[in-house]
Amino acid sequence: MRIRRSTLCTAVISVVSTAAVVLTFALPTAATVRAHDRDGATVRGHEQGGAQNLGDPDYGVCRGTDPRCYHDWGSFPPAAGHRLLVYTRTAGPRHAHLGTPLGPGLNPPLNDDNVAVKAVIELGRENGFAVDYTEDVTRLASAQSLLKYSAVMFLSTTRDALDDGAQTALRQYVRAGGGFVGVHNAFGTEYNWPWYEGLLGNANFYDHGPNQPAEVRTVGRKDVSTQGLPGRWTFTDEWYNLVPAPTRVRVLTEVDENTMAQGARGNLGHPGHGGNHPVSWCQYYDGGRSWVTTLGHDVRTWTDEPLEGDEFFLRHLLGGIKSAAGMSPFCR
Ligand SMILES: [Zn+2]
Repeated sequence: MRIRRSTLCTAVISVVSTAAVVLTFALPTAATVRAHDRDGATVRGHEQGGAQNLGDPDYGVCRGTDPRCYHDWGSFPPAAGHRLLVYTRTAGPRHAHLGTPLGPGLNPPLNDDNVAVKAVIELGRENGFAVDYTEDVTRLASAQSLLKYSAVMFLSTTRDALDDGAQTALRQYVRAGGGFVGVHNAFGTEYNWPWYEGLLGNANFYDHGPNQPAEVRTVGRKDVSTQGLPGRWTFTDEWYNLVPAPTRVRVLTEVDENTMAQGARGNLGHPGHGGNHPVSWCQYYDGGRSWVTTLGHDVRTWTDEPLEGDEFFLRHLLGGIKSAAGMSPFCR
């Protein structure tokens, strides 16, 4: 499913009330330890690793792998088609794969170096969903403007990429059952907004090591985003280290730190995550769906320039988009 691109660019830089019976909400507790559910996928909780005792807050919302946390309010009728909004505003450092900053408004002209956005547009064209893109925060000014999208993707946004109105709109959108897809530096965005950290699965970017090849391990193959992936595949990335590290989520892929020639230690001293270093996961959160991956740094991920494993990454991402958008079952 390698997507085709015209040019090779080098960038510069529910609560479902099942009967009225007393079915209490048995959400995982803080004592949860890494466990494999009946399908072999991983529901992550606290565990031993490089960084520990990071906490397991619930952010005051219903969150985890239990679909009863989803608000199935009929806000996204399939008959309306599927549309993804890609948001790439950078209020801090800007990744090379984003290229030249975009002009204001929705779907402004693209440059040859806007390779990541172009790749997602192509992914949609080939797989049955429309893609709008913007880095204009005023396009996120109201929940109404977001509710026409089956999913919203934060693609390497940085720092305080949202203003107060956009924060409110995103929260209301998710509470209405919206889908969120976070890619790479979405983990370096809105550090000081706890609700958003919860949307990421109780996780934030802390630091990263060298951009280097390593083996990704596919944790389970029941989810649409892991179906068809090899058990292990080589990919190149910065391999984000996280503080906090995700809890109550379904881990979909992990990186094997033993395959990193230059090690997992990050530039700010994070020792890595030892035997369990997640790189993508999913959860229900505050009524919505959230599928996230820390991967996607390398420009070659998004272009025709060869990069081992990029077809698997793109297949994985496509599954994440489709499941968050309600086109496929979510977080299995
Ligand atoms: Zn990066």
